[in-house]
Amino acid sequence: MSMTVCVLASGSSGNSTYVSAGGTAILIDAGLSARELTRRLEGIGVLPQSISAVCLTHEHSDHTGGLKVLHRKYGWALYANSGTVDGVARNPDHVGLKWTVFATGSAFQIGALRLEPFTVSHDATDPVGFVVNHGEMRLGLVTDMGMATEVIRQRLTRCRVLVLEANHDENLLKNSKRPWPLIQRIQGRQGHLSNQHAAELIAHVAGDTLEVVYLAHLSSECNQPALALSTVAAHLKSRGLDRIRLEVCCQERASSIWSP
Ligand SMILES: [Zn+2]
Ligand SMILES: [Zn+2]
Repeated sequence: MSMTVCVLASGSSGNSTYVSAGGTAILIDAGLSARELTRRLEGIGVLPQSISAVCLTHEHSDHTGGLKVLHRKYGWALYANSGTVDGVARNPDHVGLKWTVFATGSAFQIGALRLEPFTVSHDATDPVGFVVNHGEMRLGLVTDMGMATEVIRQRLTRCRVLVLEANHDENLLKNSKRPWPLIQRIQGRQGHLSNQHAAELIAHVAGDTLEVVYLAHLSSECNQPALALSTVAAHLKSRGLDRIRLEVCCQERASSIWSP
């Protein structure tokens, strides 16, 4: 049972991840312009018409920016929980979109994929992370979380691949020129996860199944790819987990394709 995963873009100005298995292809979030998202899909040999649905984690524009145009252009089904639907509809552009509403905490099926949405702590209406299952294959995807909660730790166990936020370096954030309230928001329980906290979460859930982690949603001002990588790698090494392959995702281009 194989699965294909590619992080098409990740960062504070646009997020989208491609997942396919058993003949079903979906996107988690669609925060790039329709033109750019189409270009990136074509870059990995995927026809936009082959995608059946977009599942949203939350309503922030870096996760929903291309939604309206893409939905109109390709007819993709839209999945979100009711809080996110309400949040998205606050943008007048998004009024009248047709949704399939899922309940956080209840698994649902899209073709060959089974999705488990679970609550995360972030300053949106009802933000979620997802585990996507196909047979024994299990992908965990969480960005935009202020802290690693017990629910997140439980859900991310037994995954073979993770797309996980490593938003900022704690020192770079504290010493940045950002206004103090914004620094507090990012550090807060409903903000974003630091490199160190991402490293601890990965070590906690790795077990003997985890093979690959895509480090995602890096801050452009308060993080550096090499720093995120070295912080996480050092922690995993100290836990005897250096078998896990790490890749840093970026805003400008798609990640490598994971397809075991
Ligand atoms: Zn975001
Ligand atoms: Zn967000």
